Amino acid sequence: MTLTRTEAIMLGSIRLGEANRLVTFLTPARGRLTGMAYNVRKPNRRFGAALEPFTQCELVMAERRPHHHIDLRQASILHSFPAIRTDLVRIEAAGRLVMLCRAFLPEAAPHPVAFSLLADSLAALACGEAVWLTLRLFEVQLLRDAGYEPRLDRCVRCQREWRPELASAPLFSPLAGGLLCRRCAAADRRDAAAAEPPFPVSSSVVVFLRQAAGLDLEQGRQLQPAEALYRESELVLRRYIRLLLDRQPLSDRLNTPWMESEGDGVVTSGEPAPRISRPQPISR
Ligand SMILES: [Zn+2]
Repeated sequence: MTLTRTEAIMLGSIRLGEANRLVTFLTPARGRLTGMAYNVRKPNRRFGAALEPFTQCELVMAERRPHHHIDLRQASILHSFPAIRTDLVRIEAAGRLVMLCRAFLPEAAPHPVAFSLLADSLAALACGEAVWLTLRLFEVQLLRDAGYEPRLDRCVRCQREWRPELASAPLFSPLAGGLLCRRCAAADRRDAAAAEPPFPVSSSVVVFLRQAAGLDLEQGRQLQPAEALYRESELVLRRYIRLLLDRQPLSDRLNTPWMESEGDGVVTSGEPAPRISRPQPISR
């Protein structure tokens, strides 16, 4: 058994029995992990509120080989982002950030960029940055880090380059994972009778999404996109992300709530009922 100390951001948990919790969290060096926290209600409070969703904390965990079961021993809060927790719009936005990390980051694969992105985005929500822009920058950059970045510089099918100065506005195909020229889109429509057909997008939204993917959060906040782009970029990203989430095995990772009601008025995510494979009990 090895004891490890690591920084972590809580992505969600479910209660197991009266006093135990199965906790999902993101670490800089090991990516998304799941571990058991035993006796979370004991008066010595080894955990306190540190296991609440989107809390950034320092964790001490014991790992048992050969199956790498993780037993959380202690957690101390580094940032609890209280300003998020008093505003429903920001709670919902933070819930989307942690949901997307759970969906797109595979278990136990290092994603230090995603960790910094999540920490910075939560800090941005907590200090009053625009919710809309924070969400879009996060989505675009998480997709890139996780390997799902949509292709926005050329037609995915025929590879013909698309440039904003071209007269014809492109189409976006969630199914193809990026832009389609008009000719390829017509062929796609015929072939697929697509459940998710290509749809026209404005040149400005493509330019904005391309810029957003290439900047860090600080630079991204300086973009100040036109208000008309708010709705359109949200629509494009949401349709693309929804399609990715509907595919297996991504959606398997979404079957546990990111926040659980304990009868004390805590908001729930509205996700489907838990359907998670539980780890084997740890001998204690
Ligand atoms: Zn084409």
